[in-house]
Amino acid sequence: LKQDNAEFQWHPMAHPAAMKKSKPDIVARGEGCWIWDVDGHKLLDGVGGLWASNLGHSATAVRDAIVAQLDELPFYNTFRGTSHPRAIELSAQLVKMMEPDGVASVMFSSGGSDAVETALKLARQYHKLRGEKDRFKFISLRQGYHGVHFGGMSVNGNTNFRRAYEPLLPGCFHIDTPWLYRNPYTNDPLELGEICAELLEREIVFQGPDTVAAFIAEPVQGAGGVIVPPANYWPLVRKICDKHGVLLIADEVVTGFGRTGHLFGTRLWGVTADLWCLAKGISSGYVPLGATAISAKVAQVFNDDKSGQAAVGHGYTYSAHPVAAAAALATLAQIQALDVPGNAGRVGAVMQERLRQLEKTCSFVGNVRGVGLMLGIEMVDDKATRTPMPRSSDIPARVAKEAYQRGLMVRISGPNLILSPPLVISLDEVNHLCDVLEASFAAVEA
Ligand code: PMP
Repeated sequence: LKQDNAEFQWHPMAHPAAMKKSKPDIVARGEGCWIWDVDGHKLLDGVGGLWASNLGHSATAVRDAIVAQLDELPFYNTFRGTSHPRAIELSAQLVKMMEPDGVASVMFSSGGSDAVETALKLARQYHKLRGEKDRFKFISLRQGYHGVHFGGMSVNGNTNFRRAYEPLLPGCFHIDTPWLYRNPYTNDPLELGEICAELLEREIVFQGPDTVAAFIAEPVQGAGGVIVPPANYWPLVRKICDKHGVLLIADEVVTGFGRTGHLFGTRLWGVTADLWCLAKGISSGYVPLGATAISAKVAQVFNDDKSGQAAVGHGYTYSAHPVAAAAALATLAQIQALDVPGNAGRVGAVMQERLRQLEKTCSFVGNVRGVGLMLGIEMVDDKATRTPMPRSSDIPARVAKEAYQRGLMVRISGPNLILSPPLVISLDEVNHLCDVLEASFAAVEA
């Protein structure tokens, strides 16, 4: 197979429209933080397999755990009355890791969308068990992304991910994201945090507090363009949720397991959630796995139920798949042994500092934002007026192409260039990434 072969007519997604779109870059091999395309072109992996390959592409401990598990027990289900050692060990390990966050138990699934669906269902069931039967509504943020299933899609902010599939889940409402670069309210971060938290409270009151099940948000928005909320936002949100008996769901599918420089994104903001959606980094992308972590507060209600309604009508064939659970156990051990969040914080700070300069040096870079090893570069039509780049502009794709030719894989999402390299990336590699990206922007500018 070669990049230019006719086989490209057959796109791996096999979606009729996707096949017509531009040719994919076919990645054939990976080692450490590097990948090779089918033509043997070597690239630094600035995408990390879509926020997932946190340990890079040659974590032998994870590979060995997978192989050993395949030999021991390739598959058994954990849903109805059976389990297996890796599932039990992994739940214990995750609960231990998240004990400081108040987590008491965990439910497994196969990916981020499943983890979100599980959280939404648990939130509704929690209120029902408490006798608050009318609490079925969800509130979320306009730039939020929560996966592709019907619940997640309904709380997604970006209409592109929902429009084609409507009507969706009733009772889902969206409010403004605390987005410093683009908001109609203020340029002061703390004031913005207060205003946007107040928007949540107003929406809860408007809907009727006794009808709202949960507020769901990402501690730092990923797919929406790496939008970092002001420092006071999550603490205020936590207080408002508590005041009105609304559950707080943290979608940590991207931010979980170190990406922000903290083990979990909620820790970055010094708050705890009631439910956490986890995936991607949990198994470092080696095998698909999702998990929904459940706080003691929520778990207690299920444990105390005498009515029989707490019976679990939810679970997947592949919940805690043994191979995925083995991979996750090895991943969690590596995260701790290598202090992965610490590295993400340290080398991420260098990446943030260097690439923020593009706001000054590049005429079409409007805003560079991020934390740890997640960073978004928003390209604009006019910097002074912050006029968004038109969808028809080829500039973002040209920057990505320049980067590719210079040996760096990046992701383009609308007007944003998004970086989420493996969290084990070294300082030298991060500096190389920045060198290449600076040269790529300069080449497009020229
Ligand atoms: N939530 C967030 C915040 C995500 O970024 C994603 C995927 N990018 C999902 C949920 C869905 O995860 P998956 O693609 O594994 O279903």
